[in-house]
Amino acid sequence: MSAASRGLGPGATIGVLGGGQLGRMMAVVARQMGYRIIVLDPSPRCPTAQVSDGVVVGALDDVEAAKHLASQVDVITLDTEHVPAEVLSVLEAIVPVRPNAAVLRTIQDRLVQKQFLDRIGLPQAAWAPVDDVDAALAKVGRPAILKVRRAGYDGKGQVRIAPGDDAVALLGRLRGEPAVAEEVVGFTREISVILARGLDGQIQIYPVAENVHRHHILHTTRAPAPMPEARRRQAEAMAVSVAEALGHVGVMAVEMFELADGRLLINEIAPRTHNSGHYTYGACATSQFEQHIRAVCGVPLGDPRPLTGAVMVNLIGDLWGQAGQSGQGGTGGPGGQGSLGEQRPPAWGEVLARPEARLHLYGKDAPAPGRKMGHVLLLDDDTERALATAESLIAALRSRS
Ligand code: AMP
Repeated sequence: MSAASRGLGPGATIGVLGGGQLGRMMAVVARQMGYRIIVLDPSPRCPTAQVSDGVVVGALDDVEAAKHLASQVDVITLDTEHVPAEVLSVLEAIVPVRPNAAVLRTIQDRLVQKQFLDRIGLPQAAWAPVDDVDAALAKVGRPAILKVRRAGYDGKGQVRIAPGDDAVALLGRLRGEPAVAEEVVGFTREISVILARGLDGQIQIYPVAENVHRHHILHTTRAPAPMPEARRRQAEAMAVSVAEALGHVGVMAVEMFELADGRLLINEIAPRTHNSGHYTYGACATSQFEQHIRAVCGVPLGDPRPLTGAVMVNLIGDLWGQAGQSGQGGTGGPGGQGSLGEQRPPAWGEVLARPEARLHLYGKDAPAPGRKMGHVLLLDDDTERALATAESLIAALRSRS
């Protein structure tokens, strides 16, 4: 049996491109399982480096730094899809890269991603490439959203065009970046399917998640999303089609819009662990992070079964108050970091006192509005109650920041 078909067992070293919170949670579970983790990131203090065995300091498009990482690891994976596919191609000659450059090439450019979805016959919002913005809007109608093709996330690199707007002027806000236009979908709900596809093609699917965004950033996830069985199956089947058509290896998230008539449209594909899958880390027998490690190492996937219902609420940098503001403020709890300077963490007392709550902080030392700093997971089979608790916790954290 070759080493590849046996898979990479604990003791192997995994390289991670990008050192954000996804890499951090991956590293925590990987090390728990006995794997070693080395991360490539521009910052030696990035969230992943803080919990890793090693760090290579360099930009994600720094081929020499990436090759240096590759020389020290048995397999490479990523915590962001914004690693140039050309860099992955170079690394593939040195060590297995999962997901591979071909998957990234399809996903990281919105235009190519949309062409891919059309090609495999999956439904999505009407769209058009923006060569001539008026022609694109004539195709998708107004209101519409213009999105940069590359490197946009959490609503960054997007502008909305209302019926009377000067589209050419608004397009200018994207600073000449190539873009696509999308119709604005009047969805009733957003959902996501998180699944893992192993090296052998085996697929494991997590309970469908229901997501609420605020200001384009994920606010809450509830899982399982209450939904008719047939629709759930359809959502799962769409996500499986995507993973299989791509030949993806690892965890993947497929975000969808649900329409009033029950139809589902794919909004976005992420070839990695995902914010809307954080609930699995605490609520499921195997978290998305462990599942991703298992998939990219080519060992059997774990059991995605939910052990409880759950709600996740993101902790955004806006909750970190400025010193001198009113309120009791941070008391040096788990988020307390001396380097915060003027900013201070919220008071975590109420979160920590709740038996169903799990606090995750990502070790970021520069809270900024819109920046994801952590999340709270509420483990509760009554997910309506958990959603209400999430809102009251956020309100309490905000009033005391
Ligand atoms: P994105 O970064 O493309 O996932 O967009 C972030 C959020 O913006 C989505 O989760 C939606 O809440 C909203 N959004 C994006 N595209 C559309 C669309 N075509 N129609 C309506 N809302 C959208």
